[in-house]
Amino acid sequence: MTVALETRNLVKRFGAFMATNDVSLSVRQGARHALIGPNGAGKTTLINLLTGALTPSSGQVLLGGEDITNLPAHVRVGRGLSRTFQINQLFGDFTPLESMMLAIGEREGHGWRAWKPLSRDREVADEAAQLLERFRLVDTMGVPTALLPYGKQRLLEIALAIATRPRVLLLDEPAAGVPEEERHEVLSIVRELPPDVTVVLIEHDMDLVFSFADRISVLAAGSLFAEGTVEEISKDRHVKAIYLGE
Ligand code: ADP
Repeated sequence: MTVALETRNLVKRFGAFMATNDVSLSVRQGARHALIGPNGAGKTTLINLLTGALTPSSGQVLLGGEDITNLPAHVRVGRGLSRTFQINQLFGDFTPLESMMLAIGEREGHGWRAWKPLSRDREVADEAAQLLERFRLVDTMGVPTALLPYGKQRLLEIALAIATRPRVLLLDEPAAGVPEEERHEVLSIVRELPPDVTVVLIEHDMDLVFSFADRISVLAAGSLFAEGTVEEISKDRHVKAIYLGE
């Protein structure tokens, strides 16, 4: 089994409070791995430690066996670790086409501001349009993203992350705020990823988790509480007690 992403005895303290408590997580290559847990369990903190948005108090993060604990976030993206882009903060005035061109430019090392030279724009624009077509976003590619329906915005966030060609894709509640009937559509493009791309999903909607994931880790009060297949976790009495309130 090849391990794509791993944490070793990861700890994050905020003052005296331990938001991440000795978490050793192992995600195998190609997994569709869900991270669940009640509010305040430490899911977002853990994702932030993985992406480099936060620095751990102690412990390690490894990507493909390589220690990335001290690498800044953008370098991790370059190594193949991507999280969904936060459109509302970054891309509201941009159209999906422009956003996609920026994501591709970033992947190609042009940087966020220096996404020219012009000679390459045509190539980048063509690839951007192709990707948007694949993600069923081509009809709205000229509309400012802030004006898109919520489901389309979430879809674009995932599409932008996929455009960076990640080895490991981190999805932090990708369907949050999306109407019930569109939730499965948001994840459908993730299902189309090549099987060697690893996906880590944080999601509250258990229907989505159980239909998408092949492995589930349960966090509670900052610690890894249980881990197993969908079948094991859905039947686990202790998980039901802490998480589902049953
Ligand atoms: P989840 O995503 O599972 O809801 P979080 O990772 O957001 O959990 O939060 C875990 C705990 O850490 C919560 O009790 C939260 O209040 C605390 N926490 C998160 N970020 C900070 C911070 N920057 N400073 C202090 N406490 C924090």
